[in-house]
Amino acid sequence: MTQLAFEGISIDIATTRIVSDVSLRIEPGEMVGLVGPNGSGKSTLLRSAYRVLRPSTGAVLIDGESVWSMSAREAARRRAIVTQHTTLGAEFSVEEVVAMGRTPRKGMLDRDSEQDRHTVQQALEDVHMGWAARRAFATLSGGEQQRVLIARALAQEAGLLILDEPTNHLDVRAQFDVLDLLRHLGMTTLTALHDLDHAVSYCDRVAVMADGALVAVGAPADVLTPDLVHDVFGVRAVLDTHPITGRPRIAVASVADGPRRAATTANAPEERQ
Ligand code: ADP
Ligand code: MG
Repeated sequence: MTQLAFEGISIDIATTRIVSDVSLRIEPGEMVGLVGPNGSGKSTLLRSAYRVLRPSTGAVLIDGESVWSMSAREAARRRAIVTQHTTLGAEFSVEEVVAMGRTPRKGMLDRDSEQDRHTVQQALEDVHMGWAARRAFATLSGGEQQRVLIARALAQEAGLLILDEPTNHLDVRAQFDVLDLLRHLGMTTLTALHDLDHAVSYCDRVAVMADGALVAVGAPADVLTPDLVHDVFGVRAVLDTHPITGRPRIAVASVADGPRRAATTANAPEERQ
């Protein structure tokens, strides 16, 4: 399995430093959640691994090799990407979308081999979307589309999966389906997540960004302390045990919210008069 490392990454857009000196290593088979407020630089950091934004300093290494030194094709064999905004022609069928994942493994003029077709079908089965192979991609629900895009990433047969907020715009059930799937795949996975509770309950480690810098990395329960969550996100938080799953969970509330007053405290002696 594959390892991903960001080493001293800084990224400038025009003259503004958007990401500052981020070092982060994702070990083989690990699932790491990248969290941080909107605009903290999560997508920008990930774009340096997609080869969309070249870092001003530092290196992005896949198994020790710089993604920026290899060809685009070689990079696509090493890591698969599920971005936030995928624009696909409405005309493509689900299996055609997944087959696009085979491109970096084929010659320019190669037709789909039996192996390609098998891999595409298997990837669709892995995300429980085999039934939809002939459907038009555009006619699927948001959750189904997201699973197909993960299947496309699987068809690439890369050892590493990078995703940017894959549960956005999905209903609660579809969010869990996607996260359960990612967990089940057991691939080296780095995913930006906007829901802190998803990071807590699904990720081996979380990496927290604020203002373009990495401010904490570690096991969710060690990192997402009430103080850190307050400082970085401006909300109150409590970590406890989920009453249904028994796993750690995080409850968040507005700083404006005090604990709800019990009816009796309204009549507490010191408040009467
Ligand atoms: P996140 O994904 O954590 O919400 P982003 O990485 O998208 O954050 O953005 C980080 C910061 O970089 C934001 O302040 C955003 O406005 C800025 N930014 C991102 N892309 C560009 C761009 N192409 N040009 C100028 N500023 C950008
Ligand atoms: Mg983003």
